Amino acid sequence: MATTTATEPDSDPREPLERLFRDLRTRATGLSGREAARRLVAHGPNELTRRKRRDWPKQLLRQFTHPLALLLALAAALAIVAGTTPLGIAIIAVIVLNAGLAFVQEQQAEKAVEALAAYLPAKASVLRDGVRTSIPASELVPGDVLIVEEGDRVSADARLIDGGVEVDLSTLNGESLPAYRSTELTDVAGPLLDARDLVFSGTSCTGGEAKAVVFATGMRTELGRIAALSQRVGRDESPLERQVKRVAWLIAAVAVGAGLAFLPIGVFVAGLPLPDSFNFAIGLLVANVPEGLLPTITLALAVGVRALARGGAVVKRLSAVETLGSTTVICTDKTGTLTQNRMTVTDIWTPDGDRAALATSVSACNNADLEGGTGDPTEVALLQAASEIGVEVSVKARGEHRVRQFHFDPALRMMSTVDRQDGGLVVNVKGAPEEVLTRLTNYDSADVERVIAEYAQRGLRVLAVARRRCEVIPERREDAEHDLELLGLVAMFDPPRPEVADAVARCHTAGIRLIVVTGDHGLTAKEIARQVGIARNGTKVVTGAELDDMTEAELDELLRGNEELIFARSSPEVKLRVADALRAQGNVVAMTGDGVNDAPALRRADIGIAMGRSGTDVARESSTMVLTDDNFATIVTAVEAGRRVYDNVRKFILYIFAHATPEVIPFLLFALSGGAIPLPLTVLQILAIDLGTETLPALALGREPAEPGLMERPPRRHTDGVINRQMLWRAWGLLGGVSALLVLGGFFLTLLAGGWSPGDPVGEGAPLHDVWVQATTMSFLGIVACQLGTAFASRTQYASLRSIGVFSNRLLLWGIVFEVVFAAAAVTVPALQHVFGTAVPPAGHLLLLATFPVIVWGVDELWRWSRRGRS
Ligand code: ADP
Ligand code: MG
Repeated sequence: MATTTATEPDSDPREPLERLFRDLRTRATGLSGREAARRLVAHGPNELTRRKRRDWPKQLLRQFTHPLALLLALAAALAIVAGTTPLGIAIIAVIVLNAGLAFVQEQQAEKAVEALAAYLPAKASVLRDGVRTSIPASELVPGDVLIVEEGDRVSADARLIDGGVEVDLSTLNGESLPAYRSTELTDVAGPLLDARDLVFSGTSCTGGEAKAVVFATGMRTELGRIAALSQRVGRDESPLERQVKRVAWLIAAVAVGAGLAFLPIGVFVAGLPLPDSFNFAIGLLVANVPEGLLPTITLALAVGVRALARGGAVVKRLSAVETLGSTTVICTDKTGTLTQNRMTVTDIWTPDGDRAALATSVSACNNADLEGGTGDPTEVALLQAASEIGVEVSVKARGEHRVRQFHFDPALRMMSTVDRQDGGLVVNVKGAPEEVLTRLTNYDSADVERVIAEYAQRGLRVLAVARRRCEVIPERREDAEHDLELLGLVAMFDPPRPEVADAVARCHTAGIRLIVVTGDHGLTAKEIARQVGIARNGTKVVTGAELDDMTEAELDELLRGNEELIFARSSPEVKLRVADALRAQGNVVAMTGDGVNDAPALRRADIGIAMGRSGTDVARESSTMVLTDDNFATIVTAVEAGRRVYDNVRKFILYIFAHATPEVIPFLLFALSGGAIPLPLTVLQILAIDLGTETLPALALGREPAEPGLMERPPRRHTDGVINRQMLWRAWGLLGGVSALLVLGGFFLTLLAGGWSPGDPVGEGAPLHDVWVQATTMSFLGIVACQLGTAFASRTQYASLRSIGVFSNRLLLWGIVFEVVFAAAAVTVPALQHVFGTAVPPAGHLLLLATFPVIVWGVDELWRWSRRGRS
């Protein structure tokens, strides 16, 4: 037989195990670190190479073919057909510029979101040099011996060599029922995916534990074959984007309507020649179609996503940022989220003073590794205590004695092992006292209960330890965990995280309700909650058993109101029921979870939150957000960021809407006066405003820091639209209205000072033509000046400008510099004067312009001040 070279593809994974080992040149103890490194070079990293992303031309094209762009293109075509080529070209410039900007913004957004993958590297457990090691999943090579446990994501295709696991194959075959895979089940025929001793990359383990030898990695896995099913961050449309799209359409429709209405008014009322009316109609339309709005929002969300990731909260969907901002309830775990997950044993109680027996038992019934410093913190603490008592705690000794293990089951809250001890077989059990105590033969219950209550009230986590000698190896859990003899109680302390108290306080001012859901004892949970400030006023503690007896109606009743609650001794189903009930009451629920069983609740919550450090891959995959630091405070920071991003989107919508009034009112005046008042603004001037002055400040407003008081308001109702009546009033009525008055003031001032009286002709060749050109320039500059004021006003919704600082948004300052330079160029550079039909107005009038921004901003400042006074 020819020897297999490293680069040669896979051998048949279903051949007899010895053959497979030989073909893969490996053993049941795995590869050496060096050999693995060599193979990594030969086989390449264990990653799905995405098809080269050459679809940017398509994405760019899409910017030109979306409906609003097509609408503008139609306008351009009409302008050209009507014989006004310059206008047509100007509109095309608008389209190209907008498409370019939108494209850049979307690429940026995509990049921001793609960079998230780096925050959550997948890990895998393998045997290297005979030792269990955790490595990045991308470094798996064929021949590696992989260890798969409950909650793990399988990162390569592998053949089981020891043990058995339940796997969720739904990513590969859509089958939602878990499948059992075991060394004992061999299939040599049929599709590879059905072979019952193989596990595949992209699936996850929902139960059990097994060792498996890797036979395919990267693109050679089934997942790789099925095609690059690359798990990208979802680009689902968020409610915000949907709403804004709807509004954009509405405005586009109004713009088209206004344009159409202008035609007859221009021609018949004002006596304008048809082509001129036509051009104006088109200009109005183009200026008011908010084509740049959506990409700006997408980018704002993406920037929010990036900021969140830097702060320790990696979200998987852009829309999550928005949902976060409307969170009304946070259901949180206790251990590791509110606390540090650094347990230390503080007290040990034994019925007869024999600590050695207890220590021996917890050392056997344990999966932590003191030397390697790995393992569940509860078990590490127990092992530490056992070692101090003086018993053997090495992983090696434990492994040699253990014959069977029944995993810690979060629903059962117990774990047990069967070990060879003292020349016989012993079942060692540890777990929540309530569970262990019901499985004892006889004990002094009054005494034990008293000790437990005393420990729990101090906020300590309590475990009971018990054992039983047996003759035969128990096959099932139920056969093992009964007729036990109590060895004692162990209490351990897990200090609250220092930042949590402050985060809880912020939730309280922000009107966010907190619910603690924990597997721990009620009294323990209550004390820890009290220490961080949750549920201070005699809060109810509901146990899992009590909840099981509740009807849905009773649960609804319990959750109604705004009280904070603690669900103790709860099973993962509790989370699901609580999330459901809360959502049915109209809440936006953020829910944390770490185990396999938490996955349904994580999916059901509006924001499922998994832990990046502790916790399982399965929980992470079912979540919308992953905390890289496992910290509750990070959730609150994320909510705050969500609120900020949403606020900022509203800020730039306000800003963009505000210039509609000063653009439209002058035309109405012209039309209604029957032409006695000349046109205050030319079409190209309108387009110049649209092009040159809108985008940068809008982008800058999207980056505003959080407004003071952001976390002192109740959550926004998620039924509230992003654009509401008050906002429209502020944009069109207040900011727009004041601007319109100022702009018209400037326009008339220049006209009248130039000797104009109503009805005088201003057309080409008329004596007053030059005056009129100056006057329209005043209108143009007036609108730009007012937009400067609007930009500063839009920076806050409630707070004063002073409280946030005039210079605190650098980007906005640059945007304004650009705006001013652009406007100055449009008015002074001869070539641009020609294009936009501008002429420099008298110096005194120009000085007047300088007051416009201050007035617009000042009026809004007063309005905000009066609102603050009212609330
Ligand atoms: P939490 O919600 O605080 O994370 P867990 O589900 O981890 O709670 O634990 C619930 C209870 O199960 C604990 O109070 C403890 O009594 C018991 N327990 C926790 N870890 C283990 C373990 N490794 N072995 C046995 N029992 C455990
Ligand atoms: Mg836990």
